[in-house]
Amino acid sequence: MTVLLVAACAVLGLAVGSFLNVLVWRVPRKESVVRPRSHCPSCGTQLASRDNVPVASWVLLRGRCRACSERISARYPLLELGCAALFAATAAHFGPSFRLPAYLFLAASLLALSVIDLEHRLLPNKIVFPTAYAVGVLLLLAALAEGEPRRIVWAAIGGVGSFAVFFALHFISPGGMAYGDVRLSFVLGMAVGWLGLSLVPLFLFVAFLTSAVTGVAYAVLTGQGLKAAIPFGPFLALGAEMAIFVGQPLVDAYLGQ
Ligand SMILES: [Zn+2]
Repeated sequence: MTVLLVAACAVLGLAVGSFLNVLVWRVPRKESVVRPRSHCPSCGTQLASRDNVPVASWVLLRGRCRACSERISARYPLLELGCAALFAATAAHFGPSFRLPAYLFLAASLLALSVIDLEHRLLPNKIVFPTAYAVGVLLLLAALAEGEPRRIVWAAIGGVGSFAVFFALHFISPGGMAYGDVRLSFVLGMAVGWLGLSLVPLFLFVAFLTSAVTGVAYAVLTGQGLKAAIPFGPFLALGAEMAIFVGQPLVDAYLGQ
């Protein structure tokens, strides 16, 4: 059962990853995500369906546009494969459960937001708000379906608590902590808190630690000093996914249970 579910989620992840490529390109450029059809960024030729199959088309065309032979970045198939891997891992972790859809949706959004933030230093409301609503509703339904309404309270506390931490940082240093990060922290605190309130501090700790270590490494390697700001969104995403996947064993070990 779980093997089938993992395989199905991996295939779903390829298709979703293909849509994430569209989001990642168009949302920061304020283009419509539904029209027109996907086209080559160099020559503008619209992609036929056979050239729009996740990963396979890119491999068969050897990473070049069929019309103009211009190189097509490897990040398109890589994002699709990354989404497939993340979906498979999420399905393997949660198994067949009411909570699985919420965490699949969250994983897809975090992947798109991380790529956009790395490229554009931006966490677009056009992705953060729908994610907040969709994940919020899916977690609400999952808590009721699993007969554990107390998780709704945990999610609310996790969301508000994380928001408060990031809002305080933003208030102290608006340049250091962008408001997009404050908004996203609410969604992630909610999703992590739903699983267990003790995971929320771990989520925040991993996000701050990994961003600090990366920031220092980046400053040293580029010689730009600590003023070289790096986007925080990908570390929020990393912290949340770490808390979701390995948080409970870590917290249990720490508390000596
Ligand atoms: Zn082309």
